[in-house]
Amino acid sequence: MSSPVAHTSLILLLWPGLRARFQNDISRPRRVLLAIAVLAALMGPDFDLVIGLFVDAPLATYHNGGTHSFVGILAGGIVFAVIARMIVPLPMGPLLVVGTLAIASHILIDFFTYGRGLQLLWPLSQERIEAPFVLFRGVRHSSDVTIGTHLLNLLSDVLFAFAVWIVSGWVRHRHTANPPLPIDETGQSG
Ligand SMILES: [Zn+2]
Repeated sequence: MSSPVAHTSLILLLWPGLRARFQNDISRPRRVLLAIAVLAALMGPDFDLVIGLFVDAPLATYHNGGTHSFVGILAGGIVFAVIARMIVPLPMGPLLVVGTLAIASHILIDFFTYGRGLQLLWPLSQERIEAPFVLFRGVRHSSDVTIGTHLLNLLSDVLFAFAVWIVSGWVRHRHTANPPLPIDETGQSG
């Protein structure tokens, strides 16, 4: 798994699209709650760690399982949309898109993170599918990892978050430089 730094940095790309849907007609506390819900969705599949509070079993037996699958993406997207709909009066469609993208981004990052592969086809198959190459160094749970390795892993996630920040700034700049064309009375843009 990657660290929360890498996963949650993607709110920089998801939030502007969502934010544009409600302008300023939603109160600040609701906007904050919605942002927290997006952050939770970005970390959503790792909520399987909660199982560790209730069972006395090794992490490997319950973490990175069914929540990190295609079914998990669909289920997580729906759960996010239902919760977000209780916070803001937006149509379900865009909320489903944001929720699904958030969960899918988490699984995509974890897929390309050093580890033991993901059960992408759960519950049809328990097979762990590994990416052909590793892009993220990930969080290592084993105790024989040195503090230097932990710091290096964190640094690589911070660099990823920095790249996301750069890309989000570029997208924002493009959007301001090329605003959508106004629509005339005939419905034509121009
Ligand atoms: Zn994960």
